[in-house]
Amino acid sequence: MSLSEFPLANGERRFLEYRLRTHQFPQTVLIEGGGEEARRALARFLANALVCTGENARPCGVCRACRKCRSGNHPDVQCFAPEKKNGVFKVETCRAIRQDAFVLPNDGDAKVYILEDCQSMNDSSENALLKILEEPPAGVYFLLTCPSGSAMLPTVRSRAVTVTLSGFEEPFSKETQHTAGQLASALCARSEWALLQATAPLERDREETDSTLRCLAEILEDALRSKAGASARTGFGEVSAQLAAQFTKPRLYAVLREVQKLLSENEGYANANLLLTGLCYRLHRAAEQTI
Ligand SMILES: [Zn+2]
Repeated sequence: MSLSEFPLANGERRFLEYRLRTHQFPQTVLIEGGGEEARRALARFLANALVCTGENARPCGVCRACRKCRSGNHPDVQCFAPEKKNGVFKVETCRAIRQDAFVLPNDGDAKVYILEDCQSMNDSSENALLKILEEPPAGVYFLLTCPSGSAMLPTVRSRAVTVTLSGFEEPFSKETQHTAGQLASALCARSEWALLQATAPLERDREETDSTLRCLAEILEDALRSKAGASARTGFGEVSAQLAAQFTKPRLYAVLREVQKLLSENEGYANANLLLTGLCYRLHRAAEQTI
């Protein structure tokens, strides 16, 4: 993978490449624009590049650090986000990061903190973070992601180099979008049987189940946005509007939470059919339960 695979303006891409190559990477970078997945992917890519010990283009993909990053457990790359979707990025988390930043890296010379969904920080969280951004210890990097930098305090923005991903990058394949759309329609039809039918393409592919659930989560988020009077971000305007019309806000949140739980459990299931049956049952229950 290289930076050219991200939807970045040429100037920004060259800037990042140059700074990585010359080991002069800015200590705080704010990644905005694009889709949530694209922002996350770019943050992980840059974090990997910063801890990579390869000689030439970083990330090299083969050094020990790169292998650890790939498996998601490099001890010097830490990722933080609000505990709950649409929750607050806690001030305690920012304080803990501030303290931890002074601890030397485990493996190499660099330590990277990825802070996702920074738009959900309140002023106290941002101010707690600001203290460390003002004078970060050498070798410590902060990669912040949020839909738009304008959501951050100007004091935080002024400490960061902003990188803007263009457009809304669609991270899902046509098949994934189709299956997720079918699942959403089945929820609207309020039928567990329709849900089961919609999961048929997932029977043999656990990874596809994962992408489909992530796509469904975006559709549900869109439905919640449309409840709040905002326009849809994904290409699922119609089905998300249908969801918004069919379900109350707490119900939509309940289904979204269930999807997120399923995503975190997906790997634990040994039997794919059992997973899909359970998935349908749980989505249906979350959608239909009365509070
Ligand atoms: Zn490497």
